[in-house]
Amino acid sequence: MIVCKFGGSSLSDAPHIEKVQKIVHGDDERRIVVVSAPGKRSGNDEKVTDLLYRCAHLVAEGKPWHAVFDAIAARYTDILSGLGMEHDFFLPILAEVREHIEAGAGDHWAASRGEHLSARLVAAYFGWEFLETEGRIIIADDGSVDETTYERLREALDPKKRYVVPGFYGSNSHGKVQTFSRGGSDITGAIISRAIGAQVYENWTDVSGVYRIDPRLVEGATVVDRMTYREVRELAAVGASVFHEEAIAPVITASIPINVKNTNAPSDEGTWIVEGRECDGHPLAGVSAKGGFSRLTVHKLMLFKRTGIRHALLTMMRVFGVRPVFSLYGIDSIVWFFETSQASEGVLQAMCARLRSEFALDSIEVDHAHAVVGVVGAFVNEDPALVGVVSSALERAQIPITFLNYGSSATSMLIGVEERDSKAAVTTLYHALFA
Ligand code: ASP
Repeated sequence: MIVCKFGGSSLSDAPHIEKVQKIVHGDDERRIVVVSAPGKRSGNDEKVTDLLYRCAHLVAEGKPWHAVFDAIAARYTDILSGLGMEHDFFLPILAEVREHIEAGAGDHWAASRGEHLSARLVAAYFGWEFLETEGRIIIADDGSVDETTYERLREALDPKKRYVVPGFYGSNSHGKVQTFSRGGSDITGAIISRAIGAQVYENWTDVSGVYRIDPRLVEGATVVDRMTYREVRELAAVGASVFHEEAIAPVITASIPINVKNTNAPSDEGTWIVEGRECDGHPLAGVSAKGGFSRLTVHKLMLFKRTGIRHALLTMMRVFGVRPVFSLYGIDSIVWFFETSQASEGVLQAMCARLRSEFALDSIEVDHAHAVVGVVGAFVNEDPALVGVVSSALERAQIPITFLNYGSSATSMLIGVEERDSKAAVTTLYHALFA
C-alpha cells in the first residue's frame, strides 16, 4: 500500500485537485491520501491556514473577522464549483466551523479546519471514506506522538477501503484538537504510513524533489536522486524547506522509503529518502543556511574547574527563555548560538547581568545577526579535502567564518557566518562543492 500526502499547492484549486485524482488513480496501491489545506494559488495569494489563524486572532481580540472567514469559505466553494460538485452538502459543514470559531474555539482548532475541510471535500470528490484524526493521533505533552496513536489508527482503517485523511492535527492528552508545527501535514503522512506499514510514503509537492540548494538562489539547481533520512533532518535543521524534520521519526522506525514528487510533473522520479545510500560519487546531499541567530560568549579563567558549570549556566539561561542550539567550548570560554526570537534585548540584559554575578564571569557578551550554514552529506567525514575546499571558497568570496563545526555530526559540517553573508556563502559553497 502507498500513502500519498499532497501539500497545499497541490490542493490550491480545482485544476490541481483534478491532477491529484489522476495521480491517485494511476496506481491501485495508492489507497490513503493525506491532504493539506489549500495553499497559495499565486505569489500574492494567502494560504487558508494563515487566514484561519487570522480569524481566530481577530475573534480573540473582539475585532471584525467575518470578511476573512468569507474569503476562506469562498476558497472551498470555488473548488467545489470548479470540480462540478454540489455545494449543498458542504455549506452546513462550513457553517459549523464558522459557529465554533465565533464561540472562541481557539487557534489550534481554527487552523486545523483547513485540513479538515480539504479532506471532507476531497473524500466526497473521490467517493472515498473520510478518516478523522482527532482522538486518533495523540500528541503528548512534550510534542511527541503518543504510541497509542498507531494502534488507534490500525483499528480505524479497514484495508479493503480507501481513505482521505486530514493532515496537520490530532488531539492533545486532554482530548482537545492540537495542530503540529507549520508544515505538519508531512508528519500526519508519516504517522499513517507507519501505522499501516506502507511500502512507500509519497510526498507530493510543487517541485520535483529535494534540491541541493534553495532553487531561488541558483538557476538550474539540481535535485538529489537519493538521500538518507539523516541527511534530510540535517538539511531541514539548517533551514532547507524540504520535508518536515519531525516527519522523519515515524518512518525511520518502520524503514519506510519516502518519495518526494511533483504533482505538476508526476513522471519525474523525484527524490528517494531512504535509510542508507551508496556514495556513488556524491558524498554530499546539499547546502543550506539558517539565519536569525544570536551569539552568547562567556569567558572565565579556569571556567571548567567548576564541575557542572555548563549545566548550571544553561539552566539559568532557560529561566530567561534562552535555549541554545549550537555550542562551542574553549578551555576558558563557551560560545552558544540561540534563536534571536527567544528573548528581547531587555531580557538578554537581565540574563547577562544575572549570569555574570552568579558565576563571577570575567566577561559575557551577546551579539546578533548570525547565520549557520550546513554542508550536509552522509559521507561528509570521509572527504579529506572538504574543509580545505570550504574554507578556501569562502575566503576567495571574502566571507569571514565565525566558527567551524566539523566532526560533531557524521552527516554535516556547520559553518558560522554573519547573516548578511549567508546567501552568498550558500551559493559559493554550492558552486565549489556541487557544480
Ligand atoms: N496547512 C498547514 C500549514 O500551512 C500544514 C501543512 O500544510 O502541512 O502549515
